[in-house]
Amino acid sequence: MPTNDKPGGPDSFDVIVIGGGPAGYPCAIRAAQNQLRVACIDEWKNRDGSAAFGGTCLNAGCIPSKALLESTELYHRAREEFATHGIGVAAVSLDLAQMQKRKASIVKGMTGGILALFKAAGVTPLQGHGKLLPGRRVQFTAHDGARRELAARHVVLASGSVPIELRSAPFKAPHVVDSWGALDFEAVPKRLGVIGAGVIGLELGSVWRRLGAEVTVLEALPDFLAFADQQLAREALRHFRKQGLDIRLGAKVTGATVAGGAVDVAYSDAKGAQHVAVDRLVVAIGRRPYTGELLGADTGVELDERGFITVDHSCRTGAEGVWAVGDCVRGPMLAHKGKEEGVMVADVIAGRYGEVNYKVIPAVVYTAPEIAWVGLTEEQVKASGREYKTGVFPFQASARARAMEQAAGFAKIIAARDDDEILGVHIVGPMAGELIAETVLAMEYSASSEDLQRTIHAHPTLSEAVHEAALNADKRAIDSLNR
Ligand code: FAD
Ligand code: AMP
Repeated sequence: MPTNDKPGGPDSFDVIVIGGGPAGYPCAIRAAQNQLRVACIDEWKNRDGSAAFGGTCLNAGCIPSKALLESTELYHRAREEFATHGIGVAAVSLDLAQMQKRKASIVKGMTGGILALFKAAGVTPLQGHGKLLPGRRVQFTAHDGARRELAARHVVLASGSVPIELRSAPFKAPHVVDSWGALDFEAVPKRLGVIGAGVIGLELGSVWRRLGAEVTVLEALPDFLAFADQQLAREALRHFRKQGLDIRLGAKVTGATVAGGAVDVAYSDAKGAQHVAVDRLVVAIGRRPYTGELLGADTGVELDERGFITVDHSCRTGAEGVWAVGDCVRGPMLAHKGKEEGVMVADVIAGRYGEVNYKVIPAVVYTAPEIAWVGLTEEQVKASGREYKTGVFPFQASARARAMEQAAGFAKIIAARDDDEILGVHIVGPMAGELIAETVLAMEYSASSEDLQRTIHAHPTLSEAVHEAALNADKRAIDSLNR
């Protein structure tokens, strides 16, 4: 159990973590596992006024979005796909209130679970605001306004991020909302506009499209998923458009006017000024680091020009004993990236080994088909000048995917020509987010494509697609044409 004797006193801790999202709370738990005396401060409040640990991810991000993606995919499949299986259903109806209730109960269960984990690990939960003062002191203001000063040997900042507001289309609930607002619609909008075809925009667009909304996605960049492997992006775009998502590329939003219960969205594209009328507009143009009232004067912690807390490779800030992890520091804004940073810091503080391999962080888009990748895109490998080979396996050739009626997409492996090291894996297809894990492990172990080729994969499983893609890199695939 954590020690209570150092540095001493009820308001002194070995570690204070400010922020209880997926970066902060795992950091607190690991620090407690490392026998340190730990407090985790979190100020999150839900719209009903209730306080909850878990940050954006559990309350307004990863978890509620995945709950709705699952429900809406089931609804869609029941309506569109069951007949193909020979299953007749008299009438599939939508009870959105129940769908939202299910989502809320999952969120409540998961956020409540953090308090139980804290209790078991011996972490002191403090709900309210934390502000770093010089000398690793922290001013804590509870939700009821009570204020006290705490001290620690180490302070970990995990204050997360907030949605970016578009100056030309400011949030104006209920018509112009951020991703949190779009997860809470109480009725299916007839016409939904989404600004930004990033991960969040595509997931939210998919949710409401499946429930019947006419969805228009406006993306400023000319390329779809510009940061992803472009072969994968092209395949995904083709499927999303087939599903009825009206994705307009090279469409830069310049204004949004709310009038008569609708939103007139102005944008410009190659043809000039355009308009689209929608009933609800979701602004999903990205997130920015949040450090509001986090830093007192003279703490020695610096922010970069984009507002991220400046840290080194091991998440040390410029102030001794002060660390920062998660969305408030550089790197992809992903829950699992923050979690690993939090765990690394808690281990390093305790004198143990800790490291994050930033080159091998998987990314997943939970659409249908799902999208997942790890490592370099083909464009990045090409630009590096390294000779490479690719292997692709279409899910059309996967018996399991066919049996699941989910044979869209492919698995693609990029490996070095010289030593066969796997450089990147890109999957668009069923359960891509689960399939990628095997290849993340392979890359973590610096595996070659031959290592995957010689690994036995059960038949018939979706994972055979990864196996066959690896075989295809050497044009030795058995179950598909070697192209
Ligand atoms: P946060 O989760 O933002 O948590 C920070 C916490 O710190 C908050 O509770 C905040 O209230 C608190 N805080 C801030 N300042 C203070 C202070 N001074 N005092 C006290 N408390 C403070 N990522 C994925 O990996 N997978 C997904 O599927 C995924 N889906 C997403 C879907 C949506 C709709 C959104 C919006 C995001 C999604 N993300 C996803 C991103 C993910 O939510 C973030 O990367 C993750 O939450 C970042 O974790 P964090 O702990 O750094 O910050
Ligand atoms: P992400 O950062 O993954 O959440 O994606 C946000 C997306 O929004 C990016 O692809 C941006 O190009 C896009 N975006 C940003 N500003 C605008 C704008 N004014 N109009 C349309 N798309 C935008």
